[in-house]
Amino acid sequence: MLSEKLQKLLNDQINYEYYSAYTYLAMSAYADSNEFPGIANFFMIQAQEEMEHAKRIYTYMPSKGGDIELEAIEKPKKEYKDVFEIFDEGLSHEQEVTRRIYHIADVALEEKEHATMSFIKWFIDEQVEEEESFSLLVKKAKRALDNPAALYLLDDELASRTLHPAAK
Ligand code: MG
Repeated sequence: MLSEKLQKLLNDQINYEYYSAYTYLAMSAYADSNEFPGIANFFMIQAQEEMEHAKRIYTYMPSKGGDIELEAIEKPKKEYKDVFEIFDEGLSHEQEVTRRIYHIADVALEEKEHATMSFIKWFIDEQVEEEESFSLLVKKAKRALDNPAALYLLDDELASRTLHPAAK
């Protein structure tokens, strides 16, 4: 049985994963309305992944006698200055997700809740990839700030992202 504290943290994380999906969906809409279909595709897939993250927790909780409680999802930001800003804010967002995941891991460790420590490990590893991929995109987007050709190439590169790449 999960403690009340862990149940609250895991429910909060379900909510935050959906908020992440909403945030990336808003970024996808921004890119789409500014004629960057590749970047829009990247963020649409990112949003789908976040919903899968939420579902992992949703499936795990009842297996440990946890009670799922869904809260309202916060409205995401709509306006952005340029595409550099969406990648930059995406990186900050992932850093916040990592902070939250680490906090869950800290509490599970404190409570000697080994099953939850094992469960949350997947998310710890996932966050390494998320931060790495956003860091790289921030660098590329920065280079493309005053270079329309580089921006076009970045958009083209991101058009090929699919939900579950075979290499992963
Ligand atoms: Mg996530």
